[in-house]
This record gives sequence, C-alpha cells and structure tokens, in this order.
Amino acid sequence: MYSYWEQTSFIDNADVIIIGSGLVGLSAALHLKRRQPLLKVLVLERGFLPSGASTKNAGFACFGTVSEQIDVINRSSEAEAMRLVNYKWRGLQKLRQNLGDENIGYHQYGGHELFMTNEADAAKIAFEQIDHLNKLLQEAIGEPDIYAVADEKIAGFGFNKVSHMIYNRFEGQLDTGKMMRALLYKVYRLGVLVLNNVQILAIEPGHNYISLQTTQGSFKAGKVILATNAFAGQLYPELDVVPGRGQVLVTKPIPNLKLKGTYHFNEGYYYFRNINNRVLFGGGRNLNYKAEETWEFGHTDVVKEKLISYLNEVILPNQKAEIDYWWSGIMGFGEQLSPIVKELKPNIFCAVRCNGMGVAMGSLVGEEVAELVIGKI
Ligand SMILES: Cc1cc2nc3c(=O)[nH]c(=O)nc-3n(C[C@H](O)[C@H](O)[C@H](O)COP(=O)(O)OP(=O)(O)OC[C@H]3O[C@@H](n4cnc5c(N)ncnc54)[C@H](O)[C@@H]3O)c2cc1C
Repeated sequence: MYSYWEQTSFIDNADVIIIGSGLVGLSAALHLKRRQPLLKVLVLERGFLPSGASTKNAGFACFGTVSEQIDVINRSSEAEAMRLVNYKWRGLQKLRQNLGDENIGYHQYGGHELFMTNEADAAKIAFEQIDHLNKLLQEAIGEPDIYAVADEKIAGFGFNKVSHMIYNRFEGQLDTGKMMRALLYKVYRLGVLVLNNVQILAIEPGHNYISLQTTQGSFKAGKVILATNAFAGQLYPELDVVPGRGQVLVTKPIPNLKLKGTYHFNEGYYYFRNINNRVLFGGGRNLNYKAEETWEFGHTDVVKEKLISYLNEVILPNQKAEIDYWWSGIMGFGEQLSPIVKELKPNIFCAVRCNGMGVAMGSLVGEEVAELVIGKI
C-alpha cells in the first residue's frame, strides 16, 4: 500500500500519462510542458533505464544513403521518399534545437556509403542516380550537392575489399547516452515526473479517465500516450508494428584509428562509426529476419560471427581489434516507413514505429503526438 504522500504526490492526478521513456515519449513530454506548463505529465517506464531502442542505437544523425533512397523510391515514389527525407531532416534539426549540439555530442563528420568489391553493379546504379537525387534532395531540404563519389578517400581509411564510396557531407553522429540524459534533465526541469520499473499491463477506458493496470498498481489520467514503439503490439496487437532486433558491438580503443564519421554498407543493413577512438559496428538483421523479429534482447551466433568477420576483414584489417561491448536493441517496423501517430481510442494516443530512423524522427514524432493531445484538452 502506498502512503497518503506517495499516492497524492506521485501516483494520482496526472493529466497525461506517457507510457515509455524513449526519445519519443520524452519528446512528447517536453512539448506538452512547453506548450502547457501547468499540465501534470507523468512518464511510466518499465525498465530501470529506457529499455527499447533509444539508449541502444548507433547514434547516426542520418537521412538516407543513395541506395536507401533508391530502395524507397522503388517501393513507393519519389514524392514519398522525399517526404521521409524532409521529415528526418526536420526531426534532426528539432533534436539539436531542443537539446543543443554540445549536450548530445553532435558532430557533422559526414556519412559514407561503401560498396564492396563484389558490389560493382550496385555501385554503378547508385552513382548514376547521384545527380538526380541531389536535385530532389535540394528541393526537400534546401541543401545542395548532398552526395558525391569519393572513391579516392577509401585508401585513407585503411579498409579492405571496398571498391567504391559515396560521401554525404551533411550526415552527423551523436552520443546516444548524452542525448537521452540531456532529454531527461530537460523534462525533469520542466516538472515532468518519470517513474521507472513500472510496466503497463492493460489500458482500460473509464468514464472520465483512462485507467492503467501496472506492475506497481493502478494509475489514472485524462489522456494517455502510448510511446512503446516496438512493444506497441503487446498492448494493441492490431497495430502494424513488428519488432526487429539490432545487434551491436563496440571495440576497445584502437591506436591511430583512421576512420571518422558514419559508414553504411549492404543497403544499410550494416553500419559503423567512430566513437572516442573506438569503432561501433552493428547490423546483420537480414541474415535471419525471422529470428530477429523478437521482443527479446540477446544475440545469435550467425550475426555475431558475421559482424566479427567484417570487422576483422573489411573495417580494421590486420589490426586484431578487441571487442569491449556487445548489446542489442529492439526497433519497431511495419509495412510503411512512416511512424503511426494518431488517436487510437478516445483519449488514448499513440506515437510508435520509428523503424531504424528514430534518432532522426523521434523529436518530431513526440511533438506531433503532443499536439494531438493538446488539441483535445
Ligand atoms: C541497434 C539499433 C541501432 C539504431 N541506430 C539508429 C541510428 O543510428 N539512427 C537512427 O535514427 N535510429 C536508429 N535506431 C532507431 C532508434 O533508436 C529508434 O527508432 C528510436 O529510439 C525509437 O524511440 P522510441 O521512443 O519510439 O522507442 P524506445 O526507445 O524503444 O522506447 C520505448 C520505451 O517503452 C518502454 N516500454 C515498452 N513497453 C512498455 C510497457 N508495457 N510499460 C512501460 N514501458 C514500456 C520500453 O522499455 C522503452 O524504453 C536504432 C535502433 C537500434 C535498436
């Protein structure tokens, strides 16, 4: 049983409860408090830390490689691809404005798409599209000459088996941990309460309020925002959100590390970057989609072995890099690449399914759902 004080100051009387303290949930909280400072906003998070994708990702501040743009255009249309680019671009500007570049360790070192020696055809197709894509992207985000062939730079990075490269000077990287701490501080300062180790088990519409059954008892609020991303289907199976696990490693510090920036290959299924003289490297979900379609954190031998072999044979050849960290995070995917931001049921809103792009999109997704809520208050 909670004390009178606990019940009245921590549990009762939230105007809005946000489920999930990832980038989207906290960005929604930030926007709600900025727009309506008197609103009582409570965030409930099942983990000791945020436990989905926002503290587990690679920290790429990116809006798509040439191959990714071609893929989206082939699956939908040029207009849809550019709408997504514009959304990610605006999301990144919003994130940087909200938190400040220094507080999130943001650096615009540029992004690189690599093509292996056995991917000459894919490189040719990508190179042929650069001029056209640069025109489209200039209209979408107002910046010229985004992509450029940069084969002459490959040798300087010390890679093996890489024969072609496209450089994107507008791509950045950030420190994911710093980003999430900065966001937490920001919402605390505005008076948002974040309670951890609270898992929501059921959401029940009441007469004048929404009732939440949780592992810590029941909570009530006038409005609820579901920001549980990959886990949305655990509470609302009808939502088109499929989990997708991403496995990641970070090496021990590498003396005289030559690479600097963000790097993608194999249509974005693999990605690596520098972080404090180390290399972060992740991907390989496409090796076995079904096995990675899971809500469980963890690793598989097939992905681990592939990452280690690329690390030793392509990224840091002949350097005997040692691995310091392994972890995984869970993303939310769906048929469409756009997030789902809507009122699900009366007074229950959702902002989920950022795919592998939530660092870029998340601040805007949170803001959009907060605006939906404010419109109904
Ligand atoms: C390995 C990896 C690499 C990535 N790299 C990049 C990248 O470089 N660039 C990029 O733009 N994006 C990247 N992403 C994607 C990005 O991290 C996500 O899209 C983004 O963090 C999603 O934020 P979110 O707040 O929607 O979800 P999450 O961060 O997953 O937050 C959801 C929260 O809800 C909580 N929760 C779930 N169920 C419940 C419940 N029932 N009760 C209470 N709490 C609950 C979870 O614990 C979690 O903290 C990557 C993701 C992964 C996994």
